[in-house]
Amino acid sequence: MSDKAESVKCLILGSGPAGYTAAIYAARADLKPVMYQGLQPGGQLTITTDVENYPGYPDGVKGPEMMVDFQKQAERFGTDVRFGLATAVDLSKRPFKVTIDEKHEIIAETLIISTGASAKWLGLESEQKFNGFGVSACATCDGFFYRGQRVAVAGGGDTACEEASYLSKLCKKVYLIHRRDELRASKAMQHRVMKAENIEIIWNHIPKEIVGDKTVNGVILEDVNSGKIKRLEVEGFFVAIGHKPNSDIFKGQLDMDETGYLQTKPDSTQTSVEGVFAAGDVQDKVFRQAVTAAGTGCMAAIEAERFLADKE
Ligand code: NDP
Repeated sequence: MSDKAESVKCLILGSGPAGYTAAIYAARADLKPVMYQGLQPGGQLTITTDVENYPGYPDGVKGPEMMVDFQKQAERFGTDVRFGLATAVDLSKRPFKVTIDEKHEIIAETLIISTGASAKWLGLESEQKFNGFGVSACATCDGFFYRGQRVAVAGGGDTACEEASYLSKLCKKVYLIHRRDELRASKAMQHRVMKAENIEIIWNHIPKEIVGDKTVNGVILEDVNSGKIKRLEVEGFFVAIGHKPNSDIFKGQLDMDETGYLQTKPDSTQTSVEGVFAAGDVQDKVFRQAVTAAGTGCMAAIEAERFLADKE
């Protein structure tokens, strides 16, 4: 360790709606929370466009703007918001040891994990090869580069439909490639996709290969029923097949399910270790909404406060 360990009452990892809501409540309860924002300050909402289903915004709000507001509100009550990523944890005894950026050690009396989830990839070699050169997992970040061009989006959930509909406003043609014959997305989102004239859904196909020279110029698809192969001419390929919880550093220390979602007690954010709480997408594979994440962030801070009060 290059610098001296620092002791805090309440350490929050992650800065999405769960983390900031936990911070607002913890700061107001005088726990003097310290937050490390993680790899993507503001979390997944910073790579989305309009948020129309968060209560309190009758006209909707842009995801990145909403997260700036969350941060300001958390800081207004004294949350110490810092850049940095937790790279190791020791939860074997309390207070817990958390290493930030492989060098700074924090000793935390309570820990709130709100590290969220990250986009999943298909696992194709060509997907990694062309990442940043025609392949992306974020239409709102990279869609601009494909203005007037042809793109494909892989997936059939709300994310894929949202990405396809966003891209349809910029691109000449959008193919939505789905492995089944019905979408998983909500009806509202399906409707948006169906009514866009330049979106074509390619049912029952999976991407086998992304092809190109220096940048992408096509995608090879396989018909899941017949095994037949076909090629689409596209300049951009967007992967939108769901998310993976950011829980790797807690493996072996906290109970999690087979896909890595942290397990919490019923009606609680308490994990398998007393004093460690989990909120938001890292522990929720069912709802995964900003508002539910915020709700569990609030629960985590209240539970951390009660836990500390009981110990005193
Ligand atoms: P989902 O898990 O809902 O959907 C993933 C999609 O990708 C599914 O259609 C799935 O197919 C497909 N898929 C998964 N793995 C593969 C693979 N290896 N190859 C091909 N296709 C694959 O994830 P989302 O990110 O879409 O949504 C997550 C949650 O976030 C949901 O609860 C959603 O409602 C919510 N959300 C809400 C939004 C909003 O309200 N504005 C916007 C975005 C997300 P299959 O259907 O066959 O399983």
